[in-house]
Amino acid sequence: MSHVTTFVKREVVIVGGGSTGCSILYHLAKRGVKDIVLLERGIQMASGQTSRSTALVRTHYSNPSVAKMALNSLNFFKRFEQEMNGRSAGFKQTGLIIGGDESTEKGIRDNLIMHHGLGIESRVLDFEEAKRIEPEIDPTSFKPIVYEPNSGYADPSLTSNAFSAAASELGANVMTETRVTDVKKIGNGSSSSYQLETTNGAIEASKVILATGVWSKELLAKLKIDFIPIKPVRHPVIIYRRPEVYQGTRPLIFDFPRRMYYKPEGNSLFYAGSIELELDTSQGAVNPDNYDIDVSYSEVERFSKSVAECLPIMAEKGQFLRGYTGVYDVTPDQEPVIDDLEGEGYPGLYCLIGLSGHGFKLCPEFGRIMSGLVLDGGFHDYDVSIFKSDRFEIGALIESKYALGTVA
Ligand SMILES: Cc1cc2nc3c(=O)[nH]c(=O)nc-3n(C[C@H](O)[C@H](O)[C@H](O)COP(=O)(O)OP(=O)(O)OC[C@H]3O[C@@H](n4cnc5c(N)ncnc54)[C@H](O)[C@@H]3O)c2cc1C
Repeated sequence: MSHVTTFVKREVVIVGGGSTGCSILYHLAKRGVKDIVLLERGIQMASGQTSRSTALVRTHYSNPSVAKMALNSLNFFKRFEQEMNGRSAGFKQTGLIIGGDESTEKGIRDNLIMHHGLGIESRVLDFEEAKRIEPEIDPTSFKPIVYEPNSGYADPSLTSNAFSAAASELGANVMTETRVTDVKKIGNGSSSSYQLETTNGAIEASKVILATGVWSKELLAKLKIDFIPIKPVRHPVIIYRRPEVYQGTRPLIFDFPRRMYYKPEGNSLFYAGSIELELDTSQGAVNPDNYDIDVSYSEVERFSKSVAECLPIMAEKGQFLRGYTGVYDVTPDQEPVIDDLEGEGYPGLYCLIGLSGHGFKLCPEFGRIMSGLVLDGGFHDYDVSIFKSDRFEIGALIESKYALGTVA
């Protein structure tokens, strides 16, 4: 990684070195863009919310474009090492059990039909089959039960660092410990460019991509952009140790009745998190640089009760270890903003923000889509116009089959 303090004019600047920015850097470098630099305020890649991600990689979504994005990304994770010159994303295929309830049953069944049309492998399980796949689960509160055999999880820091290292090998530049403190548009029309003030001096660029996650508001405000509503919301994760009989590679579980997700990690860890929409809609916004990073007693109590009901062995022999909280960059429809802002008067300015707590798994495809927007003036493989930033103003929110957070 280079630390440059002198100033240059660049063709493309990416702000933010999380999974999003690193994937964009790689995909642009792969397509031959050499005059490109990624600016990251942290000391290394993935020092923002990416490092806090539970990093589930699955394809169950309600919207065909998001499901397609998830499928292409999953396939990328599966061939990551070939694509990335031997570098690993730490992808582990575990399978995912999705347990529905009355309020989600129709949505799940409709989604299955849509998923099969897209080529996503998934099937309905009866109780017996569910118990064969995960002997410790109590499936009795689930209707229906769906299984995605190809889902799993990856390592978010490895993934981001692999993208940035592969991009550097292709000639891209990365500057860490470089915070963008101001950004201004210079000039008008097609001749406009952007002046970025950073803690390492100023840079001018004709194209700027914001991949700044929960910190996006600050730079949007500098550009006087107030039409992208992003709320940074606190999200707790509780970690347990699994007992001996429940160790090894085990499937992920979406527990819709209790609004929870569970991730058995490695040999013996177990992560539990919430998919409660309420958490995102009614919670106040937090300052991502100063929020309560600890979990509360009541959060541990609520999560543990759900874990115990779904996996009774955890009530008997599981062990609470610790918890932490991360922050989601939530939009009103819980889907990302993927856009060039030319139509809004900002030619050459792009953003991929507002990932709403489910953006890690999509990062391979985010990079491919953004490279299309930047280099081809659009992405033509499937419809990504639904992610445009004007959808909030014109009331064209992306619809979900569920009133659940992140599983939109
Ligand atoms: C607890 C938790 C669990 C999650 N679980 C999952 C999951 O299971 N599956 C899934 O798909 N997703 C999950 N997510 C969401 C996913 O992790 C995020 O959507 C994704 O990692 C965000 O990546 P990003 O690159 O957009 O943002 P970040 O990783 O936050 O990166 C933004 C970067 O921009 C940098 N930056 C910001 N402002 C500036 C500036 N002015 N100058 C320079 N640099 C700047 C920051 O330092 C940061 O590194 C989870 C998130 C959390 C918090």
